[in-house]
Amino acid sequence: MLDVNDLYQEVIIDHNRNPRNFGELKEPSHCANGFNPLCGDKITLQLKIKNGIIEEACFTGDGCAISTASASLMTEQIKKMTLQQAQQLFTQIHLLLTENNNTTDCGKLNVLSGVKAFPARVKCATLAWHTLKYALSENNKTAITE
Ligand code: ZN
Repeated sequence: MLDVNDLYQEVIIDHNRNPRNFGELKEPSHCANGFNPLCGDKITLQLKIKNGIIEEACFTGDGCAISTASASLMTEQIKKMTLQQAQQLFTQIHLLLTENNNTTDCGKLNVLSGVKAFPARVKCATLAWHTLKYALSENNKTAITE
């Protein structure tokens, strides 16, 4: 059995303490809110998309270490990606976080896969990603994980 402390690997602790891209954009082109009622995590994601490329990604919010680290890692990864690449990454992360027997390699984001052993925490990790999907498809709405 994994201990819950195993979830809090160095990368997650670091991104929770010093979230990257935490703040607001001056002129976001896309944004969405995310809410995970199971844990109470809230995030607001803002993107600046130009010519099909995510030029800027910022978030604010109030959530647990896992949701904050996940949002921080996500904004770091999606910057400079095309919309298609971001959608592909969403699909990969979803597999990584929800499928037990998968061999998806998401590089640095693999640290998030530890949540699979803790079903209650999976939604904390997926929140930022659902919010991203909303920002890209249903601009200005709220993604709720339940
Ligand atoms: Zn949470």
